[in-house]
Parts: sequence; C-alpha cells; structure tokens
Amino acid sequence: MKALQYRRIGAPPEVVTVPDPEPGPGQVLLKVTAAGVCHSDIAVMSWPAEGFPYELPLTLGHEGAGTVEALGAGVSGLNEGDAVVVYGPWGCGTCAKCAEGKENYCLRAAELGIFPPGLGTPGAMAEYLLVDDARHLVPIDGLDPVATVPLTDAGLTPYHAVKRALPRLVPGSTAVVIGTGGLGHVAVQLLRAMSAARVIALDVSEEKLALARTVGAHETVLSDAQAVGKVRELTGGTGAQAVFDFVGAEPTVRTAGAVAAVEGEISIVGIGGGSLPVGFGALPFEVSVNAPYWGSRGELIEVIGLARTGAVAVHTETYSLDEAPLAYERLHAGQVNGRAVVVP
Ligand code: NAD
Ligand code: ZN
Ligand code: ZN
Repeated sequence: MKALQYRRIGAPPEVVTVPDPEPGPGQVLLKVTAAGVCHSDIAVMSWPAEGFPYELPLTLGHEGAGTVEALGAGVSGLNEGDAVVVYGPWGCGTCAKCAEGKENYCLRAAELGIFPPGLGTPGAMAEYLLVDDARHLVPIDGLDPVATVPLTDAGLTPYHAVKRALPRLVPGSTAVVIGTGGLGHVAVQLLRAMSAARVIALDVSEEKLALARTVGAHETVLSDAQAVGKVRELTGGTGAQAVFDFVGAEPTVRTAGAVAAVEGEISIVGIGGGSLPVGFGALPFEVSVNAPYWGSRGELIEVIGLARTGAVAVHTETYSLDEAPLAYERLHAGQVNGRAVVVP
C-alpha cells in the first residue's frame, strides 16, 4: 500500500510503498477514509536526531478515520464496513488513568513502549491503518469522515481544555483563544457551544481571524505588541477568565499571562517551546496554568456527539495521499485555513 513516511531527520515526508498490514489477535484493520494534518507533525520533523523518540521510517498521521476492513482473532463488537474514527493517545488499558478513559495520561505507556499511531506507531496517512484495540475506535456512522477526522485531535484537545475551564466561563466572562488554526478555530466553536463566555480570538494572520469570526468569535485582535492592551480594553481592564494558547511560543505565553484575569485559568496547548513563570507577583492573583495533552476516550465520544448536533463544523481542505507532502508544506508556511485532511 501507499503511505506517507517521515524517513530521514530534517527531510520532507515522502510517499512510499510499504507492505499491506494484517491484523493480529485483538487488532482491527481499517481502510483509511481520512487522515488529518497536525502542526505537531511539523514539530516532530524539526526535532534533532539526538534524542529523537521514534523509530524511522515513521508513517505519519495521528488523526485517523476509516471503515473496518478486517478483524483480528478475538475482536468482537465491530463489523466489517463500520465507519469509525481512531482515539489516538493509546495507553495500556489497565492502569488507574486508563481505567478512567484517560489513556492520554497512561502511567505505563512509556515503560511498555506504547505509542500513538503516527507518533511512534505506523499512522493513518496510508491506505490501511492497524489499530491495536477495538476500544480505540469510536463509531461515526452518518458523519462525513473528512469533516469528522480532525475531531480526534483538533477537536478533542481543545474540548478537554475548554471543558476543564467551564466553571470559570460564567455569563459575563471572557475566553481568549490565541492561534485560530486547526485546533483554535475548533476551540472558538466549542466555547460558543459550551459556555456563555465572550470569545476574543488572536492570530497573526488576518485570514485566520476572518475564519475565527465566521465560526463565532465575538472579537478578533491581531497578535502583536498591542494585543494585550486591546484585550484588557475589551474586558474593561479585567482580563480573561480563561486563556487558551494554541501556539505556546515565548511571545504567546507572555500574552496569555498578561491577559489573564485574577483567578483565571491558562491552558498552554501549543508546543512552541515557551514557558510562563509562575510565582507570587508573576501573574495576577490565583491564576492557574496547565499544559494539557490530548483528551480522554470519553471526551472523544462527547465531542463527536457535539458535532452530531451541528454545533461544531471543522473547516477543511483536502489533499490526496500523493499531495500530502504539499499539505505539510502549506501548513508549515501558515497557508492552511482550518484543517488539512488527506484522503488516501
Ligand atoms: P495550526 O498551524 O493549524 O495553527 C496555529 C495557528 O497559530 C495559526 O493560525 C497561526 O497563524 C497562529 N499563530 C502563529 N504564531 C502566532 C502568534 N504569535 N500569535 C497568535 N497566533 C499565532 O496548528 P495546529 O495543528 O492547530 O496546532 C496548534 C499547536 O498545538 C501546535 O503547537 C501543535 O503542535 C499543538 N498541539 C498540541 C496538542 C496537545 O495535546 N497539547 C495537540 C495537538 C496539537
Ligand atoms: Zn496533533
Ligand atoms: Zn495505562
């Protein structure tokens, strides 16, 4: 089958032919219907050889949708042809975190060498995808796989961050979304669907700010040196009760800290390498800062349920598998508005 692989440190990914996978006991083989292109892959492909955590070549794609092609021995509860999406942050399935469905925080994944598809294990940018366990599949019958596949990461990750901030997002409150790309433009929609907060979106690109307004942001602010002052002004000096940073670089984490309200919450979701000093006087009183990773299995079911109501619509642009390297190039250059999705 054809697959998009990251093969050499620092080189662009390539479309190659690899053996067709076959499901072993307990595994499920999917015929891939859609695979999302995440900025995290670009970060992975920028890491140096020293300390690189995955084996190469690596088939990319940690957002996957497909139809069940074949079931390994002992798999029940699924039928050939079922339309599903893949829960990506695989865990051991039995530790205390996995027992809660929080396989993203599995206590044993590292020790057992368990990696998500596309991030250590062969991913979804291929004609077929091997899934380790039926519990990592969520049915999406009736939903469009292209529009739905980004919900497995670009939806699930902000869903988790927004859900934990909800107690602060009472009527009259403000939420700030920094970076309205793949994850951020979904975050804006989740905030509108799940809270009464006023949503202020920040980005460096006017095109992305236009998308943020289209999907429900009340206000948009260019992410520059004046941004903090503008957000403070828009909130009558109070700042935002919740701030979601989908860039996570030094300038954006500083902005996040400077626009937070007293007792506010900051989620640093982007992996841009910035860090925010916390300590008495460094931030407004009692601000909480967290850096979440992906979300739980239950939360993926919830965000797909929300999409079924029509409350969340991911803006997508599609690419064939042969065009997948171009999708990464465009994402790297900031030219993707919404989420790029590869349809093999
Ligand atoms: P994306 O490229 O689609 O979106 C990033 C957006 O940020 C773009 O719209 C870009 O214009 C904007 N931006 C860049 N610099 C900015 C600045 N200084 N101020 C404001 N906006 C700025 O990327 P994505 O796929 O949505 O991923 C977003 C980030 O989240 C990445 O760092 C990615 O690696 C990370 N991520 C983290 C998790 C997690 O579990 N923590 C999961 C998925 C992605
Ligand atoms: Zn991702
Ligand atoms: Zn576990």
